Amino acid sequence: MEAKTHIALVSVPVYSHQRSILEFSKQLVHLHKGIHVTCINPTFSSPCCNTLALFHSLPPTIDYMFLPPINLEDLPHDTHPAVHVQFTISQSLPLIHDALKTLHSTSNLVAIISDGLITQVLPFGKELNVLSYTYFPSTAMLLSLCLYSSMLDKKISCEYKDLLDPIEIPGCIPIPGTDLPDPLHYDRSGEVYKQFLEANERFYLADGILVNTFYEMEANTIRALQQQEGRGIPSVFAIGPFVQKGSCTEGSTNEAEYLRWLDKQEQNSVLYVSFGSGGTIFQDQLNEIACGLELSGQKFLWVLRPPNKFGIIVDIGAETENPLKFLPNGFLHRTKGHGMVVPYWASQVQILGHGAIGGFLCHCGWNSTLEGVVHGIPLIAWPLFAEQKMNAVLLTNGLKVALRPKVNEKGIVEREEIAKVIKNLMVGEEGKGIRQGMENLKVAADNALKEDGSSTRTLTQLALKWTSLGVA
Ligand code: UDP
Repeated sequence: MEAKTHIALVSVPVYSHQRSILEFSKQLVHLHKGIHVTCINPTFSSPCCNTLALFHSLPPTIDYMFLPPINLEDLPHDTHPAVHVQFTISQSLPLIHDALKTLHSTSNLVAIISDGLITQVLPFGKELNVLSYTYFPSTAMLLSLCLYSSMLDKKISCEYKDLLDPIEIPGCIPIPGTDLPDPLHYDRSGEVYKQFLEANERFYLADGILVNTFYEMEANTIRALQQQEGRGIPSVFAIGPFVQKGSCTEGSTNEAEYLRWLDKQEQNSVLYVSFGSGGTIFQDQLNEIACGLELSGQKFLWVLRPPNKFGIIVDIGAETENPLKFLPNGFLHRTKGHGMVVPYWASQVQILGHGAIGGFLCHCGWNSTLEGVVHGIPLIAWPLFAEQKMNAVLLTNGLKVALRPKVNEKGIVEREEIAKVIKNLMVGEEGKGIRQGMENLKVAADNALKEDGSSTRTLTQLALKWTSLGVA
């Protein structure tokens, strides 16, 4: 039998990144039967049940391997989860290198596609004489910022958060300094900022960058990037939106209960509140959200986690604490029948696909955002970390498919503001325009993924290139 064209994916130990790259690979092997994929995954602990569910549902044309876990015991006890990821990536590089060499010698390997957080892999492609791409699971706008970061570094002398005017990047809407991604909020003489710049420089080694967005959503940005091709900027391919379809069985224990509850609600009447795969909010803000939901009088379904100091929980599935105990006294009693609180995890795509959902209070993680888009659900933008504030700027100022509540001088969104924004979105005049905008974007997303749609055509061109190398 003729050997299939083989593509190696290199992912990172972050649930949302794995979910995104796997959806991309499923689409790739679905559309192009001559391609076989192997996904290499660095780890720092045993993969949790949600992660395993992702991998167990893959078709036979996608293989995967989990590399031996990296020992984190030498890191200080209180280290931020993002450092665990970076440490695991750097320590796993020799293992990844070996795995790629083995694949190269035993299969028809034509390309390596590595996640945007692990640009250190890009030179391995050159060494093995195969193509080397980045899969970028976020916006073209963030990609532009990354590619222009060394230029901005030369141009801007103050700390980014102190900038008086928004940053202007070709093809992008202006971004206020306070809404730039986390690494730009660190001290510019420090290690985090330095590593951010170094990682971004490595993007220039790529034979191309595959972005989980679609042309119609970020046309100006994508066009501006593509105009710079050949002038240093690698080829940029908008191939999304890739989001998980249909039901997923991970994690949730009372899935049927909240879906049954949704079945009893009117069309577009329920606000879904969730902060991504690990995001959580601090106690004072949690109280305000609870009171704001109550004050709004709107129905809600809230996925709740206990607060913690990092604002993120990485070991969902190993939970020990009941998050309901952090709710204000009597909240569950007062909102009975009107709202539902689901501890830790729910099947988000099933919820967003339910006709009763009329709005999504979303932390603007890129998977969640795209899931909102493909289901046509208007958003309340509640960014927490990473590049989410920048995504919120795109969704509110740029695409006008989200409302963003105002944060007070103590960094809290107050209950009255929350109630006002919820009512505006769910039943107000402003919400009507936002809903229509999201409906239009949903149609554009559907079209991008049709057989002759912009994203499918782009992915097909790439796949044809790879398969032609495979038979050479
Ligand atoms: N998710 C889910 N159930 C939850 C919370 C999150 O299925 O209770 C999924 C969600 O559908 C999305 C992913 O987890 O696909 C979160 O990814 P995103 O990029 O939005 O945010 P991150 O996890 O990176 O903060």
